[in-house]
Amino acid sequence: MGKILDGKKVAQIKSEELKHTVEKLVSEGKTPHFCVINIGADPASKVYVATKARRAKKLGIIEETYQLPAETTEAEVIALIEKLNADPEITGVMVQLPAPDHIDVDHLMATIDPEKDVDCLTPANTGRLWIGNHFVEPATASGIITLLDYYDIDLTGLNAVIVGRSNIVGKPLAALLLERNASVSILHSRTKNLAEHTKNADIVVAAVGHPKLITADMVKEGAIVIDVGINRVDKHLIGDVDFDEVSKKAAWITPVPGGVGPLTVESLMEQVVKLAMRHKNDRG
Ligand code: NDP
Repeated sequence: MGKILDGKKVAQIKSEELKHTVEKLVSEGKTPHFCVINIGADPASKVYVATKARRAKKLGIIEETYQLPAETTEAEVIALIEKLNADPEITGVMVQLPAPDHIDVDHLMATIDPEKDVDCLTPANTGRLWIGNHFVEPATASGIITLLDYYDIDLTGLNAVIVGRSNIVGKPLAALLLERNASVSILHSRTKNLAEHTKNADIVVAAVGHPKLITADMVKEGAIVIDVGINRVDKHLIGDVDFDEVSKKAAWITPVPGGVGPLTVESLMEQVVKLAMRHKNDRG
């Protein structure tokens, strides 16, 4: 049976550290102020936005959610982002994704001030990430690295296979794993034979959104298996990995829930605090 990478426990430890940092900032009159724009009524997005608001408030961060109707135009969202960019009290801005189809997410990302880009999705911060000069880090990818670091897992020389190439998970994680000297392959829906790649991987990351896509026969003995997927099946949350079977072969594995999810939220709060510290320092 593989050992559990306990995201919930690690997130709690990180949260205590972060709480002290926020307390210090608040005492210096530098309270982080973070804004989330959510467009439409996607049920999963509503849950994620509420979770972020709750975590932020618990840490003492000022959080504002802008809940916009699904029919909001792109120009209206851009006008709101520009207003938040220009407000010197606001230290972080993000748009909850997915956005409705009539909105071009690339336009929104290009509008967010990179200095307030808590999600690391602006072109400037994506570029900085890939050249190893991080201004901010994408929460899920950074949370995964935090988890592996906590368990002293050295990635040097490992073959890493990431299933999923989204801008929010797969691609930035590839950048961070490369930095840790893993050899990285990114798979996607057009990859011809997933198992051919995953079977040779020392570390497999599943970030697809397809329940139990990764089965035991696709994973080698002793692999490290990270399950990013969140799927609601019969009112239960399950991952992209067939946990019961794959855990018998893996050396390390993340559960769903309680694995990557809690660290994503914690890591996002870390980015909020990081940007707030820099923002306030810049203001003197
Ligand atoms: P996207 O839908 O943006 O990307 C999914 C990726 O999976 C795409 O690259 C797609 O390929 C690929 N894919 C789809 N089907 C297959 C397949 N059969 N075989 C191989 N690859 C496939 O999703 P996200 O990256 O935003 O999220 C992925 C999952 O992670 C979701 O379940 C989401 O809920 C979850 N998530 C969890 C987080 C957490 O904190 N735990 C945080 C963020 C996301 P292609 O590019 O070719 O379409």
